[in-house]
Amino acid sequence: MRTRQIIVVILFVLLGIGLIIFFISRDSDTPQEAIETANLGPERKVLGLSVEKRDIESYRYSNGETRLLFIGGIHGGYEWNSVVLAYQFMDYLETNPTVVPENITVTVIPSLNPDGVYKVIGKEGRFTSTDVPKDKSSAPGRFNANTVDLNRNFDCKWQPESKWRDNIVSAGIKPFSEPEALVLKNFVLEYKPTAIVFWHSQSGAVYASKCEDGILPETINIMNVYARASGYPAVESFDAYQTSGDAEGWLASIGIPTITVELKTHETIEFEENLAGIKALFEYYKQPSISNEEKIILNKNKSLTFVS
Ligand SMILES: [Zn+2]
Repeated sequence: MRTRQIIVVILFVLLGIGLIIFFISRDSDTPQEAIETANLGPERKVLGLSVEKRDIESYRYSNGETRLLFIGGIHGGYEWNSVVLAYQFMDYLETNPTVVPENITVTVIPSLNPDGVYKVIGKEGRFTSTDVPKDKSSAPGRFNANTVDLNRNFDCKWQPESKWRDNIVSAGIKPFSEPEALVLKNFVLEYKPTAIVFWHSQSGAVYASKCEDGILPETINIMNVYARASGYPAVESFDAYQTSGDAEGWLASIGIPTITVELKTHETIEFEENLAGIKALFEYYKQPSISNEEKIILNKNKSLTFVS
């Protein structure tokens, strides 16, 4: 009797294993294309670490050949709303993945200065507007943990000291002396973005970028595209005060069209305005999609070339 029970149990186990193998092998028959489509969620990468060893993350959406990069929080907790805007944009992409045209890849670096964010928010990782203390003073959290203004640490007219309004700020001991700036440099050189948008606050405008050689024509175009759709005024040059070593200037010097979007205050997210600006950029960089008929002709041509 006992032996019979054991045999029945063994048979059930074998049947179970058989079923598992059957379903696994059936799954592996799924065409490659279907698997790729199913995996199109964001790809999270840690690009490097801040001075205090916090992750600097990137999130990549879709897989087109035109690469748009959006960066929040270079000025840390002082401009925490630029980080929340980036997070909200990421949420939007998760729920509306089809908003990104086929030929475009979107990458978001939501928080380039996580130590500066931590100084104000007091929380690791992702946060929302409700985590922001009411009694924060305005200046802390702008710099990194070495008290360097990261947006003065890039290789465009770099000087050891620079200005932030009427204040003298440290720009580091040399261009890219700060790990956060170096992380962005290495990422950009490897990834070669087609265009870049930085989110800051609080001048309520879209700025072009330049270093020694003036503004790239493409920068003017995307500044106007974003400004028109979002409603922020377009400003060709930032001349409120003299700066040096800004990230946008360095990017202009290596030929990457870059714009700076300044939110109107230090507290508002202005999501709808920015989403309109982003969608306009998508439209600007979108390639006309080709019809199925054209695809078939293309494929035929390819195989003909291959045969000959
Ligand atoms: Zn800023």
